[in-house]
Amino acid sequence: MRAHAVLILLSVYVGVCFSQNVSAPNSVDQASVARIDGYLKSGDYLSALRELNYFIPRNPTNGYLYYVRGIANLNLNNRSAAEKDLLLARQTGYREGETIIDYFTSKRAMAEMFLKNLKLDAELDSARGFKIRIQPSDTLQGGIRPERTCYDVFFYDLSVKVIPENQSIEGSNTIWFTTISGTRRLQFDLFPNYEITSVKLDESTLKYDRLFGAVFVDTEKRLEPGEKHSLTVTYRGKPRVAPKAPWNGGFVWDKEKGRYHIGVACEHLGASSWWPCKDHLSDKPDSMRINLQVPAGYQGISNGNLRSVKDLGNMYTNFEWFVSYPINTYNVTLYIGDFVNFTEEYSNSLGKYNIDYYVLPKNLEKAKKYYAQTKEIIKIYEDLFGEYPFMRDGAAMVEAPFAGMEHQGAIAIGGDYGKENKKMEMWPEKYDYLLVHETGHEWWGNAVAIGDMADAWINEGFTTFAECLLAEKASGYTDYLKMIASKQRSINNLYPVVGERNINENTFLSGDIYNKGAAMLNNLRCILDNDSLFFRIIKDYYNKYKFRITTTEDFLKLVHEYSGLDLDDFFRKFLYDAEPPVLFCTYELDNKGNLKFTYQWTKTGPKFTMPFCICLNGKEVIRLNGTTSSQTFRAEKVKSFNILNENTFNERLTVPRNAFTYYYTSWPMI
Ligand SMILES: [Zn+2]
Repeated sequence: MRAHAVLILLSVYVGVCFSQNVSAPNSVDQASVARIDGYLKSGDYLSALRELNYFIPRNPTNGYLYYVRGIANLNLNNRSAAEKDLLLARQTGYREGETIIDYFTSKRAMAEMFLKNLKLDAELDSARGFKIRIQPSDTLQGGIRPERTCYDVFFYDLSVKVIPENQSIEGSNTIWFTTISGTRRLQFDLFPNYEITSVKLDESTLKYDRLFGAVFVDTEKRLEPGEKHSLTVTYRGKPRVAPKAPWNGGFVWDKEKGRYHIGVACEHLGASSWWPCKDHLSDKPDSMRINLQVPAGYQGISNGNLRSVKDLGNMYTNFEWFVSYPINTYNVTLYIGDFVNFTEEYSNSLGKYNIDYYVLPKNLEKAKKYYAQTKEIIKIYEDLFGEYPFMRDGAAMVEAPFAGMEHQGAIAIGGDYGKENKKMEMWPEKYDYLLVHETGHEWWGNAVAIGDMADAWINEGFTTFAECLLAEKASGYTDYLKMIASKQRSINNLYPVVGERNINENTFLSGDIYNKGAAMLNNLRCILDNDSLFFRIIKDYYNKYKFRITTTEDFLKLVHEYSGLDLDDFFRKFLYDAEPPVLFCTYELDNKGNLKFTYQWTKTGPKFTMPFCICLNGKEVIRLNGTTSSQTFRAEKVKSFNILNENTFNERLTVPRNAFTYYYTSWPMI
């Protein structure tokens, strides 16, 4: 799904204006105020710090000075010093920037902001680093349990009738499966708010019991390995209404001038929130049929290809859709509305397929303009990763009553055709973020798929990184760096990127599976410093796991195999620790312009290495390769210097390839 608007307070990083706060720096002379202001405005945070370090001991009760130093430290990614300063600012009674101070100094406060932002009604667990508290229902939904591993689904035959008047649904699903290990008990899943009207194994009706969203069925005789059976569940009820789709999912019952516009998004929430299935990511059907019954006069859109439209004679129309590839349960979807359809043909080296667009009539002209970019986006992704994975089913974009979601072969496009994404900074204007992101998921998340929410960074991190690669292909390396810098600025480092297994963890919460996932891949690219190797890794990883389930470990193993490098300490830091590595730096800069800069990586395992770059005199950028041992870099004729990070980056600089990485820093008092 698309990234939620992360609560990052971007203005903090950019716009500190020292002189504007007239009351605060009352003990600092006007010339110094102007100088400090100049440093902050030009991004020379080290010089600003040096000045502030002079004035603060002379004005120890001036909270504003701590606050500004805190912001300067944030801009240097000197996170622990920034936290100290922000807390000192608060202690001295400084009352501006309360939200910023909370956000950067309290993990609980940060987590609470995300919950609120996503309207998630959940309790935080301090023992789990302020992740959401695990409930028994999470284990039932997310666990690899014997009642699930004993069978493998190969086909779903789903039929759903949507009754908008009372916001309810009714239907059935036949789950076709092969028995993997002998069993007398099966688990399928359906949220407890539905009534189950019957459960049949092949032709015989069975008893079942329910525990939260899990339904357990006892078979009359033991099912033996290799046997094929069908389990048919009929059900009815009112689906949950999405508090904030797609991130906090469910049904969206929109109305447009008295006419319905309906959609559903259920990633992480679970497909069993609206249809009975084996609701675990590890098992995808090989194909699927979706019969969608909608009130007469409306269009019913789902995944795959439309096979038939039939008037049922009861004021309902049946739309029969067929998906001829494996599909994640959360990708199965429906849209109901007065859609108009237009189609274009796309061809690549393997053949042709259609791209279908379903839009509300009032937006037809706007949509046609907006979708002029689709072919170019697909072409770039095909060049990067391989041909569009679902050619038999074609591609489709459907206007959705919510922000956006990568429903396979029926992508949800909300956001008023780019209007709501204009706020996204540093985006090549030609392309819209939402379309670029969701289309990227057809490769990452839909074709290559995960088996547990713990690995959701593979979906979101690779897709977010794909956005940056698209920018590079479309308009060059500087635009790639602009995108990377923009992603890095939104990293929160609240939880490790890889989540906990078997509990259906909400790894989307902090947004780091998007931006830190992408930053990790860029860091890896910088470490390898061999683009042909790096792109071979990405492409081969995609092709190896296309239509299969993958895990984080699969990717790490492939990188190791291809590069021959021991990157365990690197991956541990960026995927399994909450906080990034810290570059410990000291420097001496004399008045003749001689710079002595020492650096080493800390808070990592001993074998951690990663490049980074510094910028001399605001223009010359140099790539340095850091290790966990102290190294020294010397330069002459230096007036000022800076580490180059996402806050000090500017597009006029010529940055060496594979040098711009993501990390924290630590500077002893300057
Ligand atoms: Zn996404």
